[in-house]
Amino acid sequence: MSDIACIVLGSGSAVPDPDRGNPSQCIRIHDEVLLFDCGERTTINLIKAGIDPRGVDTLFFTHLHWDHIVDFGYFVMTTWNCGRRVPLRVYGPPGTKAMVEACVFGMHRTDVEYVRRYVAALPTHVTERPLSEPPLAVEEIDVGGIVRTRYGIVTAGAVEHHQRVGTPSVGFRVETPAGVVALSGDTRPCQAMIDLARGADVLVHDTAFLDEIIEARQMWSHSGPTGAGRVAQAAGVKTLVLTHLGPYTSCATAVEMGSMYYGVRRDPSIWEAIVAAAQREFDGEVLLGRDGLVIPLPRERADPC
Ligand SMILES: [Zn+2]
Ligand SMILES: [Zn+2]
Repeated sequence: MSDIACIVLGSGSAVPDPDRGNPSQCIRIHDEVLLFDCGERTTINLIKAGIDPRGVDTLFFTHLHWDHIVDFGYFVMTTWNCGRRVPLRVYGPPGTKAMVEACVFGMHRTDVEYVRRYVAALPTHVTERPLSEPPLAVEEIDVGGIVRTRYGIVTAGAVEHHQRVGTPSVGFRVETPAGVVALSGDTRPCQAMIDLARGADVLVHDTAFLDEIIEARQMWSHSGPTGAGRVAQAAGVKTLVLTHLGPYTSCATAVEMGSMYYGVRRDPSIWEAIVAAAQREFDGEVLLGRDGLVIPLPRERADPC
């Protein structure tokens, strides 16, 4: 079995949902782990997936909305405090450096100073100790930017989310030795994502809202299952994974909190309806995202009979 896989860590939306964490995925390539976004529950869902968060050496942000970054401070502090040995390389669109600075050295300033003092006070014979500074290296990436990791090649492309209000957003194409994974982040269906996902084994795509909600509320900065299916079909991918899903069947408080965007509590058949809407547009495999879903690479494409 291949040790290369895409893993959905958080399959939910920006609405707090006990059943689904905020958006986050990782790609495991042998002993390398590439993390994409860092929504609430990312650190703990890595651990649940059997991945030591200290072993994640590269983190890519699609954009800086809170549901994609909120676990970042915890991820940095807890991996530093638990003995991370190599710097966490962070890539993201413009604004990423300022966000990291404000989060780690602003919001967590007290913690940073605490760990520095604690490390400095450790007796010299103690060899198992955190590094003396938060191990971080941050770079902002341009559209078309390419990052070479130990086993992968990651290309960023501009997607269409909330650019008009100043939120640069990118999707990623990740080439691994066992196939290609494309990750949309948050976006409406767009040509740039089709280009990024061309011929990919796996496309993990925004399916934030039901098609009728997008239409009724004019929420054109996200995709529904129909749009996600159309992108997958146009790109010729093998497997489409639907993610950024609402709390349709979660506990009553979560459903109520998200009701402005997701409506009332739904019957569990809503999930089949979402998958079916994507399948009407796409003749490949459609998977409903869930926290902890492992999608091994490479993917086989079933020949149509
Ligand atoms: Zn967003
Ligand atoms: Zn989002």
